[in-house]
Amino acid sequence: MTNQDTIFSKIIRREIPANIVYEDELALAFTDVNPQAPVHILVIPKKPIAKLTEAETEDAALLGHLLLTAKRVATEAGLTNGYRVVINTDADAGQTVFHLHLHILGGRPMAWPPG
Ligand code: 5GP
Repeated sequence: MTNQDTIFSKIIRREIPANIVYEDELALAFTDVNPQAPVHILVIPKKPIAKLTEAETEDAALLGHLLLTAKRVATEAGLTNGYRVVINTDADAGQTVFHLHLHILGGRPMAWPPG
């Protein structure tokens, strides 16, 4: 199930356009094409991990880097009143793109529990 080519791999390779807000050697962040909040940014690893359940111990530093990238991107987006970070994992969570990604959602109050 790993290394499947997804739309996010195409965004990494610049084969399809995206509004990229941050990039480094390990990660990419871009705005979601179908935003669910005033600010909705996706943070992805360049390594094609399909979903969180396929991350391994060797990915520990990368996973930490993604969280710190989420913090950085949220700060740069001006989300001073808070934000939510979501990782949908597999069918019950509604994952639709099988390349690991963190949703950063902000700019409005969030309800809990999520749907
Ligand atoms: P998931 O449902 O897998 O957690 O989230 C996938 C997200 O990717 C969705 O919020 C969806 O709107 C977004 N998405 C799907 N295709 C594209 C695309 O081509 N470009 C961008 N920027 N976002 C996409």
